[in-house]
Amino acid sequence: MISEKMKGLVNNNSVIRQMFEEGRNMAAKFGEENVYDFSLGNPNVPAPDKVRDTAIDLLKNEDPLVLHGYMSNAGYPDVRRKVADSINKKHGTSFNEENIMMTVGAAAGLNCALKALINPGDEVLTFAPYFVEYKNYVANYDGVLNTVATDHETFQPDLKAFEEAVNDKTRAVIINSPNNPTGVIYSEETIKSIADILYRKQKDLGTEIFIISDEPYRELVYTDAVVPYVTKYYNNTVVCYSFSKTLSLPGERIGYLVIPDEAADHEDLFTAVTIANRVLGCVNAPSLFQKVVAECLDSKADVDFYAKNRNEIYNALVSYGFKCVKPEGAFYLFIETPVSDKEFVEEAKKEHILVVPGTSFALPGFVRLAYCVSYETIVNSLPGFKRLAEHYGLS
Ligand code: PLP
Repeated sequence: MISEKMKGLVNNNSVIRQMFEEGRNMAAKFGEENVYDFSLGNPNVPAPDKVRDTAIDLLKNEDPLVLHGYMSNAGYPDVRRKVADSINKKHGTSFNEENIMMTVGAAAGLNCALKALINPGDEVLTFAPYFVEYKNYVANYDGVLNTVATDHETFQPDLKAFEEAVNDKTRAVIINSPNNPTGVIYSEETIKSIADILYRKQKDLGTEIFIISDEPYRELVYTDAVVPYVTKYYNNTVVCYSFSKTLSLPGERIGYLVIPDEAADHEDLFTAVTIANRVLGCVNAPSLFQKVVAECLDSKADVDFYAKNRNEIYNALVSYGFKCVKPEGAFYLFIETPVSDKEFVEEAKKEHILVVPGTSFALPGFVRLAYCVSYETIVNSLPGFKRLAEHYGLS
């Protein structure tokens, strides 16, 4: 009885979610502490105290009719102003509230941007491996997601392949840095090159091509690497930000879109994303958490916690003979598998280790490990990883 479009999704339900359920079942059987579930990017660091304190203060003191009421589909103007000011302070931009729409997390932000931009049959490019939902989001608007390769030694985009892939149907390019699933950051050089290619292509093809910069991990960086602010390099940019990971609030569903004045038809585009927010059924981002994040724009979850996990797991796995790029940001490792990724995932389960096959990110031959877990989980999982390495003769 369900729609043809949903049949495809039902038959191909998210491997990551299935893995998560499997983790729950294994934990019930073997005990929570004996299962090493690296499948889901669910932060294991509590939100900063300021989040709770601000929420309590707002609930106690703010007029409930304002705090829980409808507002403009784009969000509270004062919140959008504070978000714009904070971006300007951090990145030297000059946005105001007319450039900011509050969203129901990055997932809804991406959907609003794509709904506003994509005609049926339009192509969207992204670099593989990529966040598994992009394909579904693009398909929501009858667009087609095409992938461009990355260099598997560095996971930086293959710019020559990118240039060749852009054509007259290309409407948008989704980039994600720091990246899920690889943890790499795109350098200023890379962003400049992507922008140069797109400026050239727009001119040659006579089209407008947008970069949608998906940035839920912008604040989770472990080195001195700088994450370039893409609007400074390319006019037709929509930034999609989320507080899910930065403030450890994935369940609260809060983020924002930035539509710069320099983007083509930016006023129509801004109106289009706000209407998309409404007609997709979000209506507006959660009211309480708009107000909370507006007071917590300088806070972030304990990045040192993830940095410690990153060092422990990366150093151990490499010493056992596994091959992976050292991540600079986000909280994922993308590990090359000595056998097919599916086979490796099954073998890892025998050690009660849950990782996600690279096939789910359009790159077989790798697995993704989300290290946003407790430090104990990391340490206790290491003997299992060592046995896996020995099993495959890596060490
Ligand atoms: N984009 C990427 C790359 C992600 O990894 C995620 C979540 O894991 C999202 C978007 C969705 O984030 P949100 O919880 O803000 O919807």
